[in-house]
Amino acid sequence: MIYHSTRCRGGGVSAREALLKGLCADGGLFVCDALDACRLEPADLQGLDYRGTALRVFSLLLDDFSEKELSEGIARAYGGTFVSEAVTPVTPIGDEWLLELYHGPTSAFKDVALCMLPQFMSAALAGSGRRVMIVTATSGDTGKAALNGFMNVPGVGITVFFPHGKVSDIQYLQMATQEGSNVNVSAVEGNFDDVQSTVKYIFASPLKAELEASGVSLSSANSINIGRLVPQVTYYFDAYRQLMERGAVKAGDPVDFCVPTGNFGDVLAGYYARRMGLPVGRLIVASNANNVLTDFLTTGVYDRNRSFIKTITPSMDILISSNLERMLYYTSGGNTELIASLMKDLAEKGRFEVSGDMLDEIRSVFECGWANDEETKAAIREAWQKDGRLIDPHTAVALKVAREREKTGAPVVVLSTASPFKFCRDVCEAVAGRAPDADWNGFRCMDELARLTGIEPPEALDGLRSKPVLHESVVTPEGMADFVRAAAQRDF
Ligand SMILES: *Cc1c(COP(=O)(O)O)cnc(C)c1O
Repeated sequence: MIYHSTRCRGGGVSAREALLKGLCADGGLFVCDALDACRLEPADLQGLDYRGTALRVFSLLLDDFSEKELSEGIARAYGGTFVSEAVTPVTPIGDEWLLELYHGPTSAFKDVALCMLPQFMSAALAGSGRRVMIVTATSGDTGKAALNGFMNVPGVGITVFFPHGKVSDIQYLQMATQEGSNVNVSAVEGNFDDVQSTVKYIFASPLKAELEASGVSLSSANSINIGRLVPQVTYYFDAYRQLMERGAVKAGDPVDFCVPTGNFGDVLAGYYARRMGLPVGRLIVASNANNVLTDFLTTGVYDRNRSFIKTITPSMDILISSNLERMLYYTSGGNTELIASLMKDLAEKGRFEVSGDMLDEIRSVFECGWANDEETKAAIREAWQKDGRLIDPHTAVALKVAREREKTGAPVVVLSTASPFKFCRDVCEAVAGRAPDADWNGFRCMDELARLTGIEPPEALDGLRSKPVLHESVVTPEGMADFVRAAAQRDF
């Protein structure tokens, strides 16, 4: 299997190499044209569990890893690390279903991929004498999940940047208290897009070559890395299997998935599953007030020239959804020239437009909708009061969007991406109908949420109270490269 750039077909590499590199040299994302030939049918899923499904999916998409490497990695990633035995259980919520993706070590769906990515990387690096420095921009959840996944992995260092003051109290403490000899964490003055653009810039800057010369390759743990994307494909298949087991669908019946979307990685994994043969009906892209994707999927114009809005769903406060590029690649029939020109427009003018035909093609699979903060809180309140389910704001955005569309008859699975206890203040306000006092910190809100609902917070979040803050650095975007250089000079 050859992975090449979305922007040019030459210079293809193996899955291992694509995974170590993260991003293509021309700024494009790694894709493979054999995706549609990787078939996994509903009937093949019967009798598998989460790990068995993961092995099937990974063997298809990362064909140069041995079965031994994959199954050992899977055992380490998903063996006893998730609170739920099922890893990602599907549970009912009214007429819909929740796919609970947040039972991992950091209580966010990103754990599903970031417990696995380090396993792929250490298998790919083994015996090569190479070292890798992971550099990641995070809007909150990726950072902690990556720090946790890569902590003390030999030969790999990790540097995480997050936008200063724009992550929740709990998310901040999760990162600032991270232990491990190979971890580096800094806040950055700016918003997530500034941080992510600067990381992308660093990957194309002279620093990359400078570090390369000292034996350290830069790589990314962002959802543009195929090693992030591939593990996420698993839970779409596994969710379908769970629905078959519950008798909610028969093999071959369509299932719709509604996905709270930021960087477009999670929903893209559903699109991959669909192309691989899973009977996915519609993929519903749910956004917050930064609804650049809703506009794109409605008009065919992607325009990031708008003001950035800080919402109660920070992991979706994104105006450049990087993984959209892969969807455009596949829906354009693999037209690298077109993708290169669209991305050039995006870089130079902050906007691009697709043809009517291409928009029709996209809309035959993707639907969209969005929720503002008030609607999000109302959805949390309704889920708690009517359905007896406590959900986080990101999940609530998707639930609202799923519930307002016309029913198609197909079951709708709403991806539930974080523990509500990561966003205690807003969830408390939604459940109680009034905001906690402004001077309450995250833990005071956590206690209040537990008291109001009788639900215990996850141990990994509750335990943060007693951990010392180890990382206090704040840099400007211009200072990020120096921070990475210093990190790369440390031992790891
Ligand atoms: C990252 C994240 C999302 C968005 O996922 P993308 O893959 O970036 O679209 C949604 N909800 C939560 C809680 C997240 O952490």
